[in-house]
Amino acid sequence: MFNEKQDYKILRENMVESHIKPRGIKDERVLEVMREIPRHLFVSESESSYAYEDFPLSIGNEQTISQPYIVALMTELLQLKGDERVLEIGTGSGYQTAILSKLAQEVYTIENIESLALKSEKLFEKLGYENVKIKVGDGTQGWTKYSPYNSIIVTAGAPKIPEPLIEQLAENGKIIIPVGNYFSQSLVVGEKIKDELITKTICGCMFVPLIGKYGWDNSIQM
Ligand code: SAM
Repeated sequence: MFNEKQDYKILRENMVESHIKPRGIKDERVLEVMREIPRHLFVSESESSYAYEDFPLSIGNEQTISQPYIVALMTELLQLKGDERVLEIGTGSGYQTAILSKLAQEVYTIENIESLALKSEKLFEKLGYENVKIKVGDGTQGWTKYSPYNSIIVTAGAPKIPEPLIEQLAENGKIIIPVGNYFSQSLVVGEKIKDELITKTICGCMFVPLIGKYGWDNSIQM
């Protein structure tokens, strides 16, 4: 018989051992939190049996929850120690937010689709993630009220790095963001050193588009 608590734990362990570690993720704090967060609760019931496979899944509104490996990679690249203030753009299902909430001090997350934001907010309350604040809005403009941020993570593909996000990044802060065209991007890490953003490209990736004032125009027809 399916023992929900025990069996999902085994599936998570398997996800880490088969998909995350073999692809080079080494940060023990990241691996530990991937073993802990119940990803199956962040997807619809009909998708929950695939929750620990290494691919993105639909979360409705034509949006996706990113594949576990990409979540682990982006999180590892932020090199969080536990005392950071993090801004996330693109809450989506809230899974990446949950990972960040365990690894940093405060997490601010913005989602532009209200129904997704409300669903995630409810889940954060249910699971007791008290260091997370969420708002509905255009994340390309950042969230000035709580800036500057030690880390910024953007989980949708941008045509270029939005200027307000660079402004709201603290000195020595890191931003990770997919940059490219509407369909495929490069994962870019930027570090703000003496007011200048030094960037490096990590790998190719495919994210849904970042829609907004400093992102893509949502009137673009595919
Ligand atoms: N991090 C999410 C997770 O763990 O489920 C995956 C996010 S999904 C790949 C990208 C999200 O970015 C979508 O939910 C989309 O609605 C959102 N998005 C797109 N443009 C945005 C914007 N300007 N501000 C905030 N959210 C945006």
